[in-house]
Amino acid sequence: MEEKELLRGGQFLVKETNCEDVFTPEDFSEEQNMMKEAVMEFNDREIIPHKARFEAKDYALTEECMQKAGELGFLSVAVPEAYGGLGMGFVSTCLTCDYISSGTGSFSTAFGAHTGIGTLPITLYGTEEQKQKYVPKLASGEWFGAYCLTEPGAGSDANSGKTTATLSEDGKSYKINGQKMWISNAGFCRLMIVFARIEDDKNITGFIVEYDKDNPNGITLGEEEHKLGIRASSTRQVFFNDTVVPVENMLSERGNGFKIAMNALNVGRIKLAAACLDSQRRITTLGVQYANERKQFKTPISEFGAIKVKLAEMATSAYAGESATYRAAKNIEDRIAIREAAGNSHQEAELKGVEEYAIECSILKVAVSEDVQNCADEGIQIYGGMGFSEDTPMEAAWRDARIARIYEGTNEINRMLSVGMLVKKAMKGHVDLLGPAQAVQEELMGIPSFDTPDYSELFSEEKEMIKKLKKTFLMVAGGAVQKFGPQLEDHQQLLIAAADILIEIYMAESTILRTEKNAKRFGEESQSAQIAMAKLYLYHAVDIIEEKGKESIISFAEGDEQRMMLMGLKRFTKYTNYPDIVDLRNEIAEKVKAENKYCF
Ligand SMILES: Cc1cc2nc3c(=O)[nH]c(=O)nc-3n(C[C@H](O)[C@H](O)[C@H](O)COP(=O)(O)OP(=O)(O)OC[C@H]3O[C@@H](n4cnc5c(N)ncnc54)[C@H](O)[C@@H]3O)c2cc1C
Repeated sequence: MEEKELLRGGQFLVKETNCEDVFTPEDFSEEQNMMKEAVMEFNDREIIPHKARFEAKDYALTEECMQKAGELGFLSVAVPEAYGGLGMGFVSTCLTCDYISSGTGSFSTAFGAHTGIGTLPITLYGTEEQKQKYVPKLASGEWFGAYCLTEPGAGSDANSGKTTATLSEDGKSYKINGQKMWISNAGFCRLMIVFARIEDDKNITGFIVEYDKDNPNGITLGEEEHKLGIRASSTRQVFFNDTVVPVENMLSERGNGFKIAMNALNVGRIKLAAACLDSQRRITTLGVQYANERKQFKTPISEFGAIKVKLAEMATSAYAGESATYRAAKNIEDRIAIREAAGNSHQEAELKGVEEYAIECSILKVAVSEDVQNCADEGIQIYGGMGFSEDTPMEAAWRDARIARIYEGTNEINRMLSVGMLVKKAMKGHVDLLGPAQAVQEELMGIPSFDTPDYSELFSEEKEMIKKLKKTFLMVAGGAVQKFGPQLEDHQQLLIAAADILIEIYMAESTILRTEKNAKRFGEESQSAQIAMAKLYLYHAVDIIEEKGKESIISFAEGDEQRMMLMGLKRFTKYTNYPDIVDLRNEIAEKVKAENKYCF
């Protein structure tokens, strides 16, 4: 593959993507489909029948299921073959996280913490010896991993931790002292990735720390936390008291820990988005099945418009999440392949590949974690009083969904990161925002065209709208950068509004591109409900972007400049032919009702 075909991270904003160039779930290979089936079967057999035990905080069951997942190879999907893994690509990694997610958030979290942040720092940054020693054990499930970054005083400000690492006099080991908090898998892990500060270093350093309960080496655990959701995911504090770690267990170089932590989280973010997808599918399926059965006023409640809205919106958000997640996952996979072909080691290639799409990873984390929450909330509403009962699955789904907005970087932090990283990329010349932003400014000064465009072709108006929404981002973010320069980072409300615009553009564009690609190859008729979903998603995106754009412009522009930008906003968010969203929702809901499940 030639590099020029593949957009760089963040470039989606200023370059057009052809639908043929996006990867969609309909492009899964035979191998990927087999993996998907295997994971779904595992979930149906090992997880779902035991939901009550997970809700009753049966941590041993989580550990037992993790061992079974290891035996089936699920823990090793992303691990290179050289270290005992299956060495499958990034899409397969996301697919595994996706389809494992709907059983229970408890298992999904244990799985994600182990395969992602618990294993990845070693595969990405470990020396050959470290990889040979630890990765095969983690890949098989002989050992489980945990990731110890957060401390009582260091959450979002992760580099401010107080845990220390002191070199011994003979220079052979470090002694770690400190307290970590909210550590997933702490109760059953055998290895911890621990971040600590050496002397007065500006940045923390990463270490691989073995944890043997029979020989605890100064490590003690707090009690299990009592949590709102993911109840059988082990979450404990971890205390280090003169824990001796050989110098050869330092990860990468001294002071490189913050970078390791952030890169592991970048990967974690897209995987977390994937790990919210099958939850949404299952919630939608359960919702429609209940709605088709439950009668009130002698009518199945799925016949009511009020319920159809919910079914349509739930299906649409799941479909949009799938579209964007797999688009980005394949971009990452392709970027890794390009780097490997250019002579980079797999390790370097993977690191750079994921780093490249850090903006998309943050976008996905925010969007999909909020969608699964809304989906579960509407799921409860469809079930009515029964939705509020512990005896039905919606209640736990709702509680489990809540954590996704908090961990792997809160959604506030990820919103600000997405825009911050984009601005940085522009400054480094990796994404040319300046040229397109200037072109938008010139367009604003010019006289708009009054021609009536021909929008007869599928998605022609929607694709034009996406172009205009990108101009909106450039106008708003460009104006804000001009006004505040480097001080923009102090204007968080503005950054968050800009992030919302960015997120909606990526999600809407991905949904349209997937549907366009499928309409071209499978025929428009077969994709009728999907076309409705793409149009419905875009309609909402336009609304959000209009609101966020307006709020931003009013906050930083005044007088003529404000008037001009508000006029631009109006122009950039105007439909020539408004979609009838009531019709769109009815079509989507009828499809879901007829199939009695999420069927896309
Ligand atoms: C169940 C669970 C499992 C977890 N698992 C792990 C794990 O395995 N390993 C690990 O290391 N950590 C783990 N965490 C920790 C998690 O990553 C943190 O909770 C998260 O990063 C937020 O940190 P905090 O809780 O200290 O919140 P804070 O950082 O105190 O944030 C509180 C609020 O302030 C906002 N905020 C903070 N800073 C800013 C800012 N600069 N600008 C604007 N808003 C801001 C946040 O968005 C949030 O809304 C887990 C947490 C939970 C609840």
